[in-house]
Amino acid sequence: MTIAPGTVWLVGAGPGDPDLLTRKAEKLIRAASVVFYDALVGEGVLDLIPPHIARISVGKRSGRHSKDQGSINNLLVEAALGGERVVRLKGGDPSIFGRMAEEIDSCREQGIPVYICPGITAASAAAASIGKSLTLRGMARKLSLVTAHAKANEALSIDWSALADPEATLAVYMGKSSADMVARKLIAAGLAADTPVCLVENASLPSEQQFFTRLDLLPLTAKTALGSGPALLLIGQAMAHRDAQPAQAKLARKTRA
Ligand code: SAH
Repeated sequence: MTIAPGTVWLVGAGPGDPDLLTRKAEKLIRAASVVFYDALVGEGVLDLIPPHIARISVGKRSGRHSKDQGSINNLLVEAALGGERVVRLKGGDPSIFGRMAEEIDSCREQGIPVYICPGITAASAAAASIGKSLTLRGMARKLSLVTAHAKANEALSIDWSALADPEATLAVYMGKSSADMVARKLIAAGLAADTPVCLVENASLPSEQQFFTRLDLLPLTAKTALGSGPALLLIGQAMAHRDAQPAQAKLARKTRA
């Protein structure tokens, strides 16, 4: 796989485990002359960047923004106009809460060709880790990917009654600090207080943690159990605790038997 000079590839880095990177993403990383990456891109993925390729952190973690989005857009544009073969690595899938559209627009305004390589999103990784199906026949006919994280100085406008659907699974991104509000609003909108919830922190990484709780206890669980890693909230009947155990643990037991 080659990248034409002056081209930008927006590449999904997956949830952290380098084995969850697509083969295409790995080829693109090797074909780049410069790689810009987010804070959520896993260490193991960064290790795949050959040492002679420039790597630039444009890390953004909530509360610790090292570069604003405008500066990131400019960096990509400047690199491409300078003839670099640019890979922009983003955690998970670049099209899901990844500010991808802004980067594409900035490049296209300058006539820079931009391409996208999809990645495994956190919700898929979290569901796989806990051995649960995000959709479930007769129980979860809908999967909503939502964030309760607003732009600075912007009020949240979320239709909570639409989200409080007992036949849906809700995957809440960037929901750790808003777990309290999410639980309150969903219960107020009619979702049962005992709706199963699973929190997965650092999904796919050795440091992964899983917590099974219920909607009314979610604020407490989020506050007391979670560490400082990225965490996803999965809410809905499909997350019921019954037979819930790590997919990897099941596998290991079967192998031993
Ligand atoms: N584009 C990314 C999401 C970026 S928003 C994707 O498709 O996954 C950042 C949020 O994603 C985090 O706040 C967290 O809610 C979630 N997230 C990203 N990686 C995660 C991981 N390894 N484990 C759990 N949640 C993760």
